[in-house]
Amino acid sequence: MKLFISADIEGCVGTTLSAETHKNEAVYQQFAREMTEEVAAVCAACLEAGADEIVVKDGHGDATNIDFTALPKEVKLIRGKSGHPYNMMFGIDESFDAVLYVGYHSPAGCSGNPISHTSTGNSNHIYLNGKLMSEFMLNTYTAALFGVPAVFISGDEAICGLAKEMVPSITTAAVKKGVGACTINMSPEAGKELLRKRVKEALSCDFSKCKTELPESFEYVVNYKDLKKAYQMSFFPGAERVDEATNRVVSNNWKDIVTAHSFMVY
Ligand SMILES: [Zn+2]
Repeated sequence: MKLFISADIEGCVGTTLSAETHKNEAVYQQFAREMTEEVAAVCAACLEAGADEIVVKDGHGDATNIDFTALPKEVKLIRGKSGHPYNMMFGIDESFDAVLYVGYHSPAGCSGNPISHTSTGNSNHIYLNGKLMSEFMLNTYTAALFGVPAVFISGDEAICGLAKEMVPSITTAAVKKGVGACTINMSPEAGKELLRKRVKEALSCDFSKCKTELPESFEYVVNYKDLKKAYQMSFFPGAERVDEATNRVVSNNWKDIVTAHSFMVY
């Protein structure tokens, strides 16, 4: 069994303020350690469930948050940003049996996490085929391009709920809940216990039930916080201006959408 793990920090136990997720801030270190421990707990559960190969993609910020010395020997870690539009999914291909997400968070436009966002802080919200687009949704369509099912997600309660809407059979582990500007968190120990238990459940299920079909066409609509950014990005090839804050891209090809996204909100 070969597994791909994509990891973020805003859905891990503890993170509440944006400064806690930024490497140059003094408070960052203990949150990076928690992210490392949650990823290591998920890897350990995967190995106990019979995984023989695991690739972890560090998906937050400059993607060098996870302490590589804390991961089991069977794990390969992809650190840093390749520049490829697949970004948090860089390294995925058809050889994987399943994808697991760790530390995922609510999207821009959703109050489920005080630091909700989608990829960057530049959008108020992004809609994909009429649904609020999360990083989970973005990355699950990228996995679907290779026929790889998304079987597990941990993070805040709201993103776990949104994940269930898109992939009803996915196994979720909500380790925190966002309310306004606060988060209500499990303890780190109880959080990791829940991750280990739910990962084992996820890996004992029929993965084919978690497969996502790619829609025949995509409409990607981004609403910007900054009108100057909206104007500039309306000139991205394939983009059209909807109104002074909003641009749109329509394509039948997921690669066009994921590539447009990797420029238009950065
Ligand atoms: Zn992040």
